[in-house]
Amino acid sequence: MASMEKIVSLCKRRGFMFQSSEIYGGFGGFWDYGPLGVELKRNVKEAWWQDMVSSHNELLQPVGAPSGYEMVGLDSTIIMHPQVWKCSGHYDLFHDYMVDCRETKKRYRHDQVRGRWVECKDQKVFVTSNAEIEQEDAEIQRRALKFFRLRGKDADQLKYDGGFATLDTIDDMDRVLGPDAKQIGTLTEPREFNLMFKTTVGALGGDDDVAFLRPETAQGIFVNFKNVLDSTRVRVPFGIAQVGKSFRNEITPRNFTFRSREFEQMEIEFFCPPNQSQEWYRYWRDRRVAWYTELGLSGDSIRMREHHTEELAHYSTGTADIEYAFPFLDEGEFGELEGVAHRGDFDLRSHMEGKLDPSTNPLELETDERGKPKYRGSGRDLSYRDDLTNEKFVPHVVEPSAGADRATLAFLCEAYREDEAPDEKGKMQTRTLLKFHPRLAPLKAAVFPLVKKDGMPEVAKEIYGELKQHLPVFYDEKGAVGRRYRRQDEVGTPYCITVDGQTLQDQTVTVRDRDTLEQWRVSTKDICDEIRQRIRS
Ligand code: ATP
Repeated sequence: MASMEKIVSLCKRRGFMFQSSEIYGGFGGFWDYGPLGVELKRNVKEAWWQDMVSSHNELLQPVGAPSGYEMVGLDSTIIMHPQVWKCSGHYDLFHDYMVDCRETKKRYRHDQVRGRWVECKDQKVFVTSNAEIEQEDAEIQRRALKFFRLRGKDADQLKYDGGFATLDTIDDMDRVLGPDAKQIGTLTEPREFNLMFKTTVGALGGDDDVAFLRPETAQGIFVNFKNVLDSTRVRVPFGIAQVGKSFRNEITPRNFTFRSREFEQMEIEFFCPPNQSQEWYRYWRDRRVAWYTELGLSGDSIRMREHHTEELAHYSTGTADIEYAFPFLDEGEFGELEGVAHRGDFDLRSHMEGKLDPSTNPLELETDERGKPKYRGSGRDLSYRDDLTNEKFVPHVVEPSAGADRATLAFLCEAYREDEAPDEKGKMQTRTLLKFHPRLAPLKAAVFPLVKKDGMPEVAKEIYGELKQHLPVFYDEKGAVGRRYRRQDEVGTPYCITVDGQTLQDQTVTVRDRDTLEQWRVSTKDICDEIRQRIRS
């Protein structure tokens, strides 16, 4: 797979992504999408909406689904009533722990580092101990286990591997790493840090006016559950989908757009009867993996990872991460593209009944008979009555929660190729191409006149004008035609159409395929249909 540097450089050179506020030196964790990037990301979101929302109806039963189902959309606000975040648990629990390296002053997320850095045989090794992990509270343990599991290890047998080592006790360091090991950094105690961005609403801006930018789109769906039920004719099982911006004040934004502070999510809350929820969980998990593979992520680069029981949030009976082997990760490592979670009735119940005081009960926040909720819920009845069976229940929820930016980045990384192809003189040259699925390609075709004379530009512009009514296409008459092909390969345009001398005689043009380099002739009157048909398939 190509190095991340090459991909980042192509993104900037050809206008996919730029650092936000670059002329002022950039702003950590914020990214802008340029002219081609905005098209690519829009195509990702549109493919998701088309495949997950528009193409569904309760009369149609998709393969693998327990039944047909309705999907509807929503566009809720970024800033919501602060009580939403108290009842959802984000106000008290949506935090990371941060630690600073005392020597280098670098800041880390605590779930990534616990222990100390040592230098050993020219390698920087991070050492932690099982004992240290075990001392932590359950939440940190869960996160630490998740972190090590990502590297495919079991908690009780973590061994030195790829820059990370865990030992039975930290005193074992010398024995295991040898006398050369030198400690180069120690970390401060972890401090809690809430990831929600704060803002104030209204002119006075006092403490009572504090509001938050949403850290996920999901809560907008839960609080509108009743509105959607009452204003449409949807029946459980059904899903509500939303695409929109979310904000998290990440401690260490990094890896290009993978971990940003402002990003877009594509989320579905799927409401179903409790006794069908496991079947629906399995359906969504598999459907979502299939979606990524249908659009080009394939083979060993994508995997689905079911969470172990101890990693699960307390309300969840099943969660799976869909992960991709991003090139900035070490060999064998994967990064999360999407989480598919069985959330039970946790969210709807929290917005109905409220939350317990997290200071007395930090991890078991759902309401039970034992105490009064610290945060009062809405008091609204968010249960559902089935009009056929007359059964009343609080629906269970399956949540496929994807990141539009991470998906876009994964499609970009997967598409990036370098191969050898002959230039116009027949000499083999290295060619850079983005092998996007035609549905995702920012430009679907480019139209070139072979030369700027003999009426070729006129014919080419006519074809361009006609195609442009239906698809994003590009017109280019500058430079050698071989160079023009290369420029289109580099941004992933699947087809190039060239008007040449023969066109003027027999009204046919050359079509060139980006991937196979195959060329064939099509009559000018059929060219639009031909391209549109190929893009759809
Ligand atoms: P991570 O463990 O990587 O921080 P998460 O498990 O907190 O992610 P979720 O809360 O499950 O993420 O959010 C759902 C999806 O939203 C993620 O799978 C990811 O695609 C996207 N996402 C979350 N945080 C970010 C971020 N900081 N930048 C870009 N995308 C993000």
